[in-house]
Amino acid sequence: MKVLYCDVCKKPIENPVPSRNYFHIADIDICEPCKDELDLAMKYTLRQKKPFDYGWHDELTMRLLHEGMQKGRIEVHPKR
Ligand SMILES: [Zn+2]
Repeated sequence: MKVLYCDVCKKPIENPVPSRNYFHIADIDICEPCKDELDLAMKYTLRQKKPFDYGWHDELTMRLLHEGMQKGRIEVHPKR
């Protein structure tokens, strides 16, 4: 049985199926709960940031992922 480890929470993902129960972003593999938290964190930040721009959208995704990997989880509500 193939097992993959989430790069953020380090939990095993059993029988990983891309875009189903894990997500590959840049060189990072994340599990579904972490992807959900990433989406929430993005949504929360997008609400405050205008105008929308794909440049910082990607930059923010990578920043959230790298911070998440250091902390072991994605911070949905960044500290002020
Ligand atoms: Zn995870």
